[in-house]
Parts: sequence; C-alpha cells; structure tokens
Amino acid sequence: MPKRFPRTSPPELLPRARKHLGQNFLVDDNVIRKIISACCLNDDQHVLEIGPGRGALTRHIAPGVKSLHAVETDPRLCGLLKGLLPDDRLHLIQSDFLNFPMSGLPVPVKVIGNLPYGISTPIIEKLISERHFITEAFLTVQHEFGKRLTAQPHSKDYGSLSCYIQYYADVRILFLISPSCFRPVPKVTSCFLHLSFREARTPVQDEPLLFKLIRTAFQHRRKTLVNALAGGCDKQALLNVLERLNIKPSSRPEALSLMDYCHIINLL
Ligand code: SAM
Repeated sequence: MPKRFPRTSPPELLPRARKHLGQNFLVDDNVIRKIISACCLNDDQHVLEIGPGRGALTRHIAPGVKSLHAVETDPRLCGLLKGLLPDDRLHLIQSDFLNFPMSGLPVPVKVIGNLPYGISTPIIEKLISERHFITEAFLTVQHEFGKRLTAQPHSKDYGSLSCYIQYYADVRILFLISPSCFRPVPKVTSCFLHLSFREARTPVQDEPLLFKLIRTAFQHRRKTLVNALAGGCDKQALLNVLERLNIKPSSRPEALSLMDYCHIINLL
C-alpha cells in the first residue's frame, strides 16, 4: 500500500453523518487496506473517487496515483478534506456526481467509490452512459444490490438490472463487508464490486428497445415469456422468432439469458 496521509481528525471534531446522503463512513483499517490493494493502483493512473466523505479511501489513493479527482456533494466534508489532504494530485470537486460531466477529466479514469446506497442505480446508469472515459470501476454497494448486478438466469435476483449492466460490463463481487466496518453502523451487509467495461458480447442495433423488452418481460416474471411480452410486440412474429431460436414460448422470463434477449430483438 502506498504511503499514507495522516488519519482523520478525532471523531468528536468530525461533521455529523447525514443519513439522506448515505453517509456510512468506512472505519475498519483491514477492509480499507483490502479495498486499496484490490484496486491495484499505480502512478500512471488517473482516478475518480465518488463520495470521498471523510477521506477513508482518499488518503490512501492520492499518494499512489497520477491524479485523483474526488467528487463530494457535502460542502462540510469538502472543507474537511481540503485541510486534511494537501496534495497536488488531489482535485476536490464539490458537486452532485450525477450532474458531474466526466468529459473534463484526464482519461481514461479508474473509478473508485463507497457509494451512497440510495442512488446506486442512477450512479451505475451514469457510469454506463460515460463508460468510454472509464477503464474499470471498484465500488462498495449494498450486498443485495451487488447480487442483482451479478445475477444469472434462474435466480431470484436475476432481472432487468442484471441484463442492463452485463450487456456493457463484466461484474464480480470481490468480497463482502460487514456492517461493523462502517460508522454509523448500517442495517445491511455491503460488498465490494469490480466492473470492467467492454464491448457487448452480442451487440444489438437498438439498445433502448432491447432494455424496454427486457423490462417488460421481468415486470411479469410469473407469466410465460409470450404472455409477458404480448402487449409489446406482434405475438405471431415473436412465436416465429422463438421457434427459430429454439426457445420454448412457455419459458419464464428469468430462464432466458441476456444473449437470448439480444437474439430475440435482433430477429424481431
Ligand atoms: N468514501 C467515504 C468512506 O468510504 O468512508 C464515504 C462513503 S459514504 C457511504 C458516501 C459518500 O458519498 C458521502 O460522503 C456522501 O456525502 C457522498 N455523496 C452522497 N451523495 C452524493 C452525490 N450525489 N454526489 C457526490 N457525493 C455524494
């Protein structure tokens, strides 16, 4: 692990955590070390940190990389970090990450973040839409959310979100993080994820249409595929396509792989 900045101020001097901003701060040195080591940092890399908070990760990332842009929405924490981490490589930006244009960053960037869990989905959507600036992402998220991102067909966590992210990236849960590693202690277990963006394995011409079809299918998970999709497309055309693909019309939406859905949309 690279040289460290000093530890944060004594807890009684730190700003109080704001629940609506998802402020559960990492305090466990072993987990922090594990996260930093998993990120494989080196001084050729540009890094973007989402929500640096009190700097638990920031102070370890900054000394080991070429540049670190850290986007934090809470002005109190930006003030704290400015005093705490004087380093030319660290650029602190007070902004809502969801409105922050990544086009202005030195690219490509590695994204690291212990995410505010309430906005994990819009953050993932933003990373996908700006994936051309990103090499890979290392994210701490709620374990339930991580299971949905990585889920495979036939599992209860498999759904439109799994297909959406897996169309653009390989996603893996690297390890779980216990609630006791955070302050305040959250009610849920977390996990540390690796996301590696790549070209789609089965490209489709109309991606919005693919995701609309998948969302429609999973809105009716208990129906057969044909009934679930009946309102959205011509039933006979769908039956013909399923026959060509050797997919039973009586299959449930969760039995089809992302590749199956891509083939269906390409043939429809
Ligand atoms: N990285 C720190 C850590 O690991 O201890 C803090 C993680 S805490 C779970 C999430 C951080 O994201 C908080 O500092 C919070 O203020 C910040 N945050 C919440 N919403 C944000 C947004 N829309 N844009 C940028 N930062 C945000």
